[in-house]
Amino acid sequence: RFITFEGGEGSGKSTQIRKLAERLDTAKLRAIVTREPGGSPGAEIIRHLVLSGMGKLLGPEAETLLFAAARDDHVRTVILPALNQGIWVLCDRFFDSTRAYQGQLGQVSPELVNAMQRVTIGDLKPDLTFILDVPVEVGLQRAAARRGNASADRFEAEGIKFHQDLRDAYRRIAAEDPERCVLIDATPDPDTVTAKIWAALREHLRA
Ligand code: C5P
Repeated sequence: RFITFEGGEGSGKSTQIRKLAERLDTAKLRAIVTREPGGSPGAEIIRHLVLSGMGKLLGPEAETLLFAAARDDHVRTVILPALNQGIWVLCDRFFDSTRAYQGQLGQVSPELVNAMQRVTIGDLKPDLTFILDVPVEVGLQRAAARRGNASADRFEAEGIKFHQDLRDAYRRIAAEDPERCVLIDATPDPDTVTAKIWAALREHLRA
């Protein structure tokens, strides 16, 4: 099974992935946790480039190609080999991030976004995508608390409007593909959110 998690800053993706991995482990199901951009040695180098100041030197299309290169490597070297062995893959962000950040917010054309999707993932689609939804102020407060004194990465440092548009973009994605995407209200405490995710997962597996 291939499960992806999406959401804006401070939506709690990494906490929820960890908790889901623990539940799968308790249920004696083998799972790996991975992330994008990154997840494989080559893709982690690209992550570093894009999230550092260097990303600002690039236009949106060039940046999209870099995210795509990272995804291509990650899919081929980590995700597909695990799925082929029957191991669950829990991935922090996947192509919905490209659709939201580069496509809807970055104004990269749908043609390029779709072409990159075809090249990098072909027919591979997540079985289920959890879109963690929190009000922008809540998410940014959580992200700032987590960061402490460290500086924000360049996406976190965008203005409120960017994060509001991002939330809207994710909500649109969830509405467009309701079979695959489950919008989860991630405002409550982490254990409550995990319980909702677990319930949705069980329901989906029964279907
Ligand atoms: O999830 P995480 O915070 O680790 O993601 C790293 C950063 O990369 C985020 O700030 C996110 O906004 C950005 N990103 C992006 N486009 C993608 C994937 C991630 O702008 N396709």
